[in-house]
Amino acid sequence: MNSAIKHRILLWGAVPVLAAVLVLLAVLQYRWSGQVSAATRSQMELNLHAALMGFRQDLARELAAVPLELRGGIDDSGKPNAARLSQQFHQWQQGAAHPALVSRMYFWTSSDKEHLLSLDPGREQMQTVEWPPNFDRLRQRLNQTAPPPDHSASAPHGPPQHDRDARSRTHGREPSPLWLVDESIPAILRPVRPRQAPGAMAPAALTWIIIPIELSVVEKEVLPELAQKYLTGSPGLDYRVAVLRTVADKQEVLYSSEAGFGGNAATSADAALNLFGPPTRHAQMPMAGVFAMPRSSGNERTSQTQAGERSIRFEPLFFASDDPNWQIVAQHKKGSLDAAVSGLRWRNLIVSFGVLVVLAITMALVVITSQRARRLALLQMEFVAGVSHELRTPLAVISSAAENIAHGVVAEKEQVARYGASILKQSRQLTKLVEQVLVFAATQQKPQRYRLRPLNVAEVIDAALENTANMVTGGAVTLERHIEPGLPPVAADFSALTQCLQNLINNAIKYGGESRWIGIRAAAQKEKDTVREVTITVEDHGMGIGPGELKQIFDPFYRSPAVAGSNIHGTGLGLPLAKTLIEAMRGRLTVESEIGKGARFTVHLPVADGPETVTAKSGVKGETSAATS
Ligand code: ADP
Repeated sequence: MNSAIKHRILLWGAVPVLAAVLVLLAVLQYRWSGQVSAATRSQMELNLHAALMGFRQDLARELAAVPLELRGGIDDSGKPNAARLSQQFHQWQQGAAHPALVSRMYFWTSSDKEHLLSLDPGREQMQTVEWPPNFDRLRQRLNQTAPPPDHSASAPHGPPQHDRDARSRTHGREPSPLWLVDESIPAILRPVRPRQAPGAMAPAALTWIIIPIELSVVEKEVLPELAQKYLTGSPGLDYRVAVLRTVADKQEVLYSSEAGFGGNAATSADAALNLFGPPTRHAQMPMAGVFAMPRSSGNERTSQTQAGERSIRFEPLFFASDDPNWQIVAQHKKGSLDAAVSGLRWRNLIVSFGVLVVLAITMALVVITSQRARRLALLQMEFVAGVSHELRTPLAVISSAAENIAHGVVAEKEQVARYGASILKQSRQLTKLVEQVLVFAATQQKPQRYRLRPLNVAEVIDAALENTANMVTGGAVTLERHIEPGLPPVAADFSALTQCLQNLINNAIKYGGESRWIGIRAAAQKEKDTVREVTITVEDHGMGIGPGELKQIFDPFYRSPAVAGSNIHGTGLGLPLAKTLIEAMRGRLTVESEIGKGARFTVHLPVADGPETVTAKSGVKGETSAATS
């Protein structure tokens, strides 16, 4: 099979296959990106939940630090020891990240319901005080927990009634007092059960440590720090976060990482978590969880997190739906997790489709380039054949004439002179051909720079006609030359412009057909009375050029198939060379033609020193001449 046909089959077979592969890849990419997005969404959800749990846990640890430090400050009889408690409190303050979080504490024992003891750690003094007004509900609640005196033997003192219900669900295990929180004050509570005296029937009464929490410190220090640590601080944690205190469906924003986020955040949030009690309370969860938690050493109700850290869980003291409930809500900065994931998906799709588009463009370029390379190779082959042909004729004439002279076939003086003239003519043609090839090669290697000088158009046209006079005369061509009067000088290079005009005149004679007529005209092109450019037109009434070829004739080595098969010799370099030279002089070369009617090539050149205003010069007449040889 012919190699060109093979090449075509390969090319036109491979292109649709590759295009189909690209489309398939695009479809797969689209579908897979949907699956990846779903997985990313659930991963992000999990991460967000873990971050909120971490937030909650750290807050609990921060609050629990004080009561943990105060362990042992209550002696065996349940009496708080002011000196020891103050000392332990100072110790806590020294190591605490937020020492202002707690400034005083209270103690209350169910055996002495009336009295509330207050410890001022600064003065190491314990004194009996009135119940602060905002402690009213707390007082009531604590009183409920204390059993009536006559039942003390059968019912152990313990946390609130519902806690005891819960205890029954813990398989009869003796529950341990836990971490409790009053979310309205706010205050944390820790019941401490003194060691039971040997032989005592009833368990010792509980002593409650009540520690009011400084809300301003929580709002300004603790919450922002935790939000930064878990939800906003590092790249990838692009969340807005707010801590809300909800009381009977009304929300109060305790902290918000972004101005304006909070108010109705809970409805549009990606995740919400209770900071105390069951993480997703509000569906009136029972207190069972409180006492069912795994037990660690002593009185501390802690559990092990997966990471092996101790986790502390505060249980709300009040559980009614209109009781305050501290909640953390988080929302992705893009508006929602869905918006973030779909943004991510579209970004990925744009990138991968971009890559596919680049691939498709590259494929198209490869096809176009390979086609061009093939065409160029063909043209070059034609050029080599054309040039060889052009060289062969003059060389044959020269060598046969020289042979005749050398062998004495031609002896007469007149004959020798004729042969000499013929050799001269052919060698000039050869020189011209070689020069054209060299000039073309030079223009292709690097752009030519010309020093543009103001030139008189008539002089250039005359020089070109003089150089082609042999052809005009030899071809018996009628030449019409018309130069408009008062033409301004053009900015051009003399020899380059002459060369271009010669090429056009040569072509007009070569392809002028039977009419044997060429016209050369020079005219000024005006715009609002201002001459912008001067045009030189070379016209013939010959074979003309088909519309499909009008662009191709300026391609190097291109020759119309009609002329390539005929006896008209050429290299396909005349027009590309003329175009390159004219464009290097900031001009243009245009063509108009119709098959069988002839062709009109026009050189457009800018006038020297910019546009010149035409001043009507009376008396200067246009120069028109016609020559017939
Ligand atoms: P060459 O004349 O050496 O073939 P050119 O680059 O000068 O190369 O011209 C390229 C082609 O343009 C020619 O082969 C011919 O087909 C077409 N052409 C150029 N001038 C004319 C013209 N005046 N009339 C018809 N065809 C022309």
